Order: sequence, then C-alpha cells, then structure tokens
Amino acid sequence: MRTLVLPLLVILLPALAVSADRSSEHARKTLEIYRTIIEVDTSKHTGNTPEVAKYLADELIAAGFPAEDVEVVMKPPFAALIARYRGNLGSGKKPILLLGHMDVVEANPEDWERPPFELTQDDTYFYARGAIDNKFGIAQLTSTFIRLKKEGFVPDRDLIIAFSGDEESGMTTTRMLANERPDLAEAEFALNSDAGGGALDKNGNAITYRIQAAEKTYATWELAFTNPGGHSSRPRKDNAIYDLSNAIRKIESHRFPVRWSDMTREYFRVTGRNLGGELGETMIRFADDPEDRAAAERLASEPSYVGTTRTTCVVTMLQAGHAENALPQSASATVNCRIFPGVSVAETEATLRSVVANPAAKWTLLTDAVESPVSELREDVSAAVAKAVHGRYPDVPIVAYMESGGTDGMHFRRAGIPTWAISGAFMNPDDMYAHGLNERVPIKTFYDALDHWSIILRELAGD
Ligand SMILES: [Zn+2]
Repeated sequence: MRTLVLPLLVILLPALAVSADRSSEHARKTLEIYRTIIEVDTSKHTGNTPEVAKYLADELIAAGFPAEDVEVVMKPPFAALIARYRGNLGSGKKPILLLGHMDVVEANPEDWERPPFELTQDDTYFYARGAIDNKFGIAQLTSTFIRLKKEGFVPDRDLIIAFSGDEESGMTTTRMLANERPDLAEAEFALNSDAGGGALDKNGNAITYRIQAAEKTYATWELAFTNPGGHSSRPRKDNAIYDLSNAIRKIESHRFPVRWSDMTREYFRVTGRNLGGELGETMIRFADDPEDRAAAERLASEPSYVGTTRTTCVVTMLQAGHAENALPQSASATVNCRIFPGVSVAETEATLRSVVANPAAKWTLLTDAVESPVSELREDVSAAVAKAVHGRYPDVPIVAYMESGGTDGMHFRRAGIPTWAISGAFMNPDDMYAHGLNERVPIKTFYDALDHWSIILRELAGD
C-alpha cells in the first residue's frame, strides 16, 4: 500500500497546490474585481472613474470596512478612492499609503484583435485595456484589503488606499490626493502598484525585480517661429519653416551631458551582471566609471537604456504654414523632454535655448512640469519586498531604478512622501503592451501575484 500511495501523493501535490491557489476565495474575489473594473471603460473622455470608485467602495464596505472609512472623492469628471484600514495605534507608526490608478489609456475597439473592454483569455494570457496598467494593481490591492479583513488581521498602523482617477491624463485627482489631504499627508511613505515588478526571460526565469524609486521630470515645450509671410512666388530670405528646420536639426544633434546617481549605477551594475554579453559588460563598465564616454555612448544607443544615462529631448509634433501658395507665417514644433532628477526645468529650457541659438525662437512651456526627488530605499521596505519576491523566485536580485516615464508617485515624492513602486507582476518585456494594442498579462503572472501585497503589508504593519 505504502509504495502505491507515496508516488500518488508526489504526483498530486503540485497539481493540488496550483488548483487550490486559483480557486481560493481570495483568487476568485481578485478575478471578479479585475473583470468588473476592466469591463468599465475608464479612459479620459468617458467620465466613468466614479463608477469604478463606487464599486470598489461598495466591495470594501461589504467586506466589513466601516462606511466612514471609505470615501469616493469627486473631482468631476473624475473620482478618487480613499479607504482607511484602521490599525492598532499603540505602535505610534505613521500610515502607509497604497497607490494605483483606476483610469486607462483610450483603446479603439476597431484596432484591437479582441474587445478591449472585456476580459478575454487564451491558454496563456488575459487580454484587456488595463490588464496590466493599472487594473491589475487596483484589483490586487483591493482584494488584499478584503482578504486581510476577513482573516481578522489588525495592522499596527493605518493602511490607506489612495487610488487616483486620471493618472493617464491631467493627474488632477493625484494632485488632490498628494497635496490637499492632510489625512494622507501624515503618511510615512507610499507604495505604488503602478510600476516596479519583476523581469522574466523568454523561458520564464526571473532576471531582476525592480523597485521604482525615482522618476524623471516630464516637460513639454512649444518651439515657434513667426514671419510676416507673403506670396510664395516672392520668396524672402527669412522663412518660419526653414528657421524651425534648422532649430530641429540642432536639437537632434545635441546630447545632454551624461548624468548618474548611486541608484542608476547600482541599477546598471545589477542589470549588467544578469544580462551578460557585450551590453551587460558595458553596463558594468559604466557603473564602475560613469565618465567612461565609450560606455555611456553605447548605452545611449539603446532606447531602453538611454533615458537612464541623461536628460533626453525629442521633437514629437509639427505644425506649419497655412496655404500651399503662401510663405509660412508660423511654424512650430513640440519638444518633449524627460529630465534627469536634480536638473531643473529652467536649466533644461536654458540649454535648449542656447542649443537653438536663434533669438527669433519663441519657447513656451506647455506642461506643469513636476520635479520630484529620489526616494532612497529603506531597509524595512526592501526587506518586506524581498520576502514577497523571494518566496516566488528565491535568488532574484532586487534593484532600485529610475522611471523614464511618469506615474502618480512623482506627486507624492514632491509632496515629501517617499514612494516606491513595487508591482507584484513578473513580466517578459515582450509581453509589455501597456498603452498599446492588445494589452495582455500572463494568467500565471496574475495568480502568482496573489500573495504579494498581503506578505508585504503584514511585514510592514507588524503581524
Ligand atoms: Zn499606469
């Protein structure tokens, strides 16, 4: 009998472990929330984020959170959600904020292979707009609150969900959460579900887990030239389009100086070790000596890494002329910059002006640029993340990085709240379709992340 039973157990156990995971109450609840919020199109023009905020609020209240601790804050046409998980206040520890955004980037159903606002799947992937950015994080955080409540967990400090409703557009709800709420401002730090996470190679092996600890500053200028114009049969020496073209050529060939911080050097060191090959060795050379110009130039030739080596500016849109038989009266270009932390927007504009070196150029800053400091890693946060990540991938190196894009985190960092983005998702970079067509997330990634937040919150809130 023994010899019969043992092999059976050996075969059955792993299978049971997997299926138990996917059918647990927490797994089912997470999937239900994920599906429900995906099926509401929350892109900018729909005005639908209040619907999602109210649904999530109702779910939390139904799970036992007092209604007075769950608040939908309107900022028409958007809404934010604030939900406080009250802790035992004896510890004197300040609250932790948990961030995510309920809106998504627009998706045109005609361009998609599948309906973007329906959760569909095949053997490997879930597909939908928001599948990763950021309804993945919203669903996982909300269901973790519900799970911890049902488990009777009482944290030793308050945990506060602060979900924004227009991160992908104006960030008005983010600004409100970061700047206008004294109850959130007392937080010790924030953890963001909208960035960070693990990188997998093609075989599903983990390469690194990245904690987002800084963001570049996003700033956009209009560069314009005007001219009296005239009849196109009588060309004159000065011409708005030619002036603009000359200016664009200069911007194209300008290289902003190489910049680095302890964090970016460590990022290149760890990534280089794991990547190997010629590019990996270049990263290690740069980490050892950021003044190694050849190494910096090599990294600058890689779109994935150029942003980590310097400020970048690129012309993204053009507008010029008004009739085919008239000399142009105006010509303008949109110049979008991603500025290295520590360099000001004013300094960047001064550089652009001197690069173009034409007093006729008119520069207008179009965005309300948000400069934010680096959030240096903290031991307790890193240890909690390591516990969650190493439970799944025991040896994966954990490294801080600077985001070249932008998230809600920059507003909280600017408001003085250190913020780290620590998504539970492990992804192959080839699967990263955020903002693009046919956004998808591996089904395994979804289920593997189910314990991520509860491990981290139990570690940081004194279980
Ligand atoms: Zn996002």
